Amino acid sequence: MDKGVAIIVSGPSGCGKDTILRNLFKEHPEIKFSISTVTRPRRGIADEDAKYNFVTRDEFENMLKNDELLEYNVYVNNYYGTPKRPVVEAIENGDIMVIEVDVNGAASIRKKMPGIKSVFVMPPSIEELERRLSSRGTDSDEVVRKRIDEAKAEIARKDEYDYTIVNGVLENAVKELYNIIVNLK
Ligand code: 5GP
Repeated sequence: MDKGVAIIVSGPSGCGKDTILRNLFKEHPEIKFSISTVTRPRRGIADEDAKYNFVTRDEFENMLKNDELLEYNVYVNNYYGTPKRPVVEAIENGDIMVIEVDVNGAASIRKKMPGIKSVFVMPPSIEELERRLSSRGTDSDEVVRKRIDEAKAEIARKDEYDYTIVNGVLENAVKELYNIIVNLK
């Protein structure tokens, strides 16, 4: 059996990458997703449990101690990490696995998996991104401000990526991402 392949997808909070990915997995359920382990509080959105495994700080720090993570980052005061084993298994099983991480996580993974391809999702504009983050209504003003600052810093690093997709028309963005992914193997 051919080996599988992993690909990194990043994009600032509020750029709409979750929606792109949700549509991608609905249309192509054979594509696997790396479920991150996080310490941030739930936002109470239905799909969150498909994306994240929510743990306490102690649990996260134990995973770190036991070397169970491929990478991790502290983002707006919370830990976010990619468990190592599912990624290794997906590649062994011949699957395609999408790893959604922030720019720091992407840089750490590139060091451990040289040659891994990466995609950066851009919001249609900074104004639209600010509007989306502020209107979500699930984060405090301070968290929204920090997320906007973080988003600008992430966009400044988009040249570290092999591909950039602008999330203008959702359907097109999903198709673009799918085309990149199917051409990886
Ligand atoms: P959010 O709290 O909006 O769901 O995610 C915040 C940021 O963390 C996003 O940029 C997202 O891509 C990133 N993120 C999600 N999972 C991981 C992970 O496992 N590792 C790292 N480094 N970043 C992650």
